Amino acid sequence: MLVNMNEVLLPAKKNHYAVGLFNAVNLELARGIINAAEATRSPVIMGTAEVLLPYGPLEEVSYYLIPMAKKASVPVVVHLDHGLNFDTCIQALKLGFSSIMYDCSTDSYEENVRKVKEMADIAHSYGATIEGELGHVGDNEGSAEGSSHLTDPSAFFTDPKLAKDFVDKTGVDALAIAVGNAHGAYKLPPKLDFERIRTIAKTVDVPLVLHGGSGLTDNDFRQAIQDGISKVNIFTDINVAAVEAEFARFSHMNKGIIDLIPAAVEAVKQETMKKMKLFSSDGKAGAPALCDSDMDKLTKLVVAEVIKYLQK
Ligand SMILES: [Zn+2]
Repeated sequence: MLVNMNEVLLPAKKNHYAVGLFNAVNLELARGIINAAEATRSPVIMGTAEVLLPYGPLEEVSYYLIPMAKKASVPVVVHLDHGLNFDTCIQALKLGFSSIMYDCSTDSYEENVRKVKEMADIAHSYGATIEGELGHVGDNEGSAEGSSHLTDPSAFFTDPKLAKDFVDKTGVDALAIAVGNAHGAYKLPPKLDFERIRTIAKTVDVPLVLHGGSGLTDNDFRQAIQDGISKVNIFTDINVAAVEAEFARFSHMNKGIIDLIPAAVEAVKQETMKKMKLFSSDGKAGAPALCDSDMDKLTKLVVAEVIKYLQK
């Protein structure tokens, strides 16, 4: 079923596990992610990011992400990650995304607060949730998000006191923090500032988000989640797993792309399941829920019974 971020992150925060965000820029990725969530009975956040739109336009991905989320037997959030422009965030909300991130982390603190507060009010009017970012999670590859901070990463770490002020002033539902994490593949083993995660978790009462999860060790994840992280963003690991599986299948391909599709879906499913178990979100989706077609059947049954009763 399609839900917003509060419905999966507030229970995660309370019970000390984390829910993964996995980006799904094509159908194979989306199918692998949903299959993994249903197989492990895990809530999941699935989406895309503004920098990934060249690979799958927002409107087109909405055509499969939202119906797939509604049909799933587990809670699925459809999220726009790193919305960089006002218009992209609005488009996502209009298309039915249940959650957005408005990333103004490269603006001044005052601008970040002003812009995110304005967007938070709009997102909430749609019944959607919003994530903000304070401090700046940079990029290992030195892409659009900038890499100038790599000389002194700690200068961009999230300040716990400002974090509280930011959450209070903007009304965000989740906060992405910079604690030594970075996007893309790490060139050097990352060193997370766990003490800072603990301090922010004590100071701020909304769920905390760790970006740049691909490349951290299993122990990094366990510790970060224990210290207060409730959402982890993963893309590189499933992105690479899909292609490795296609590459392995390619050498004995006999029909064409239809040989590669199932290989990619299965690889994404396996990699996603691994992460769900590591984050302990497996088994947290509750009993299989009624999907829309079950609800239609149920509604018809109830209506038939009411008519019978009234005719007596
Ligand atoms: Zn990110």
